Amino acid sequence: MIYPILLFDIDDTLLDFDSNEESSLKQLFKSRGIKDFDTTAKVYREVNNELWHKYEHGEIDINNLFNTRFAIAMAKLGITADGEEWEAEYRKYLYLGAEPVENSPEIIKRLHDMGYRVFAASNGIKEMQISRLKLAGMYDCFEDIFVSDEVGVQKPLVGFFDYVATHIPSFDKRKALMIGNSLSSDILGGNRADIDTCWYNPHKAEPSEEIRSTYEIEKLEDIFKIV
Ligand SMILES: [Mg+2]
Repeated sequence: MIYPILLFDIDDTLLDFDSNEESSLKQLFKSRGIKDFDTTAKVYREVNNELWHKYEHGEIDINNLFNTRFAIAMAKLGITADGEEWEAEYRKYLYLGAEPVENSPEIIKRLHDMGYRVFAASNGIKEMQISRLKLAGMYDCFEDIFVSDEVGVQKPLVGFFDYVATHIPSFDKRKALMIGNSLSSDILGGNRADIDTCWYNPHKAEPSEEIRSTYEIEKLEDIFKIV
């Protein structure tokens, strides 16, 4: 056992956030009387990505991101939207989205049964992530769940990993591996915290010159070859 402590990102690593987002946006826009889903979703995603980028860089806080993204996006389309109200409705749909990535529940369960200590290290809302992990049937395999809204700091900032390190009993960074799909949050964060990283890259995205992972996998089950 090289890495007995496994830190897993959640969105698009264990749970398919893209499909969850797509179906949640469809429900929200439909209930708000929006007919052109594709254009509206495109504008929303651009605004949302921009705000997440700012959040990862510590320029805005997470509530600012959540409560303004719909108002900003809809304003670009000439629609007046109450950002907080739209967000609350959207979140109701998101909470129920627990489509696994590949066979992640089996993989997590197997790792847990083999004696690995499995943790979640995610940017987002803790309550929502717990709800989704429960629905996907893998919540009980996690020793603890670290989510940025509770931590107060987000990946890739080193404060997030400091929090994780102090809240995991007998933590040893040489025995920990951060696994995730995002170079800019999971891998960069691991690098800054001096924790080895595994980049989950199922769509064979171009690697980055600046942000290098210790390992790269295309399929989740390849994790067994590393740990
Ligand atoms: Mg992710």
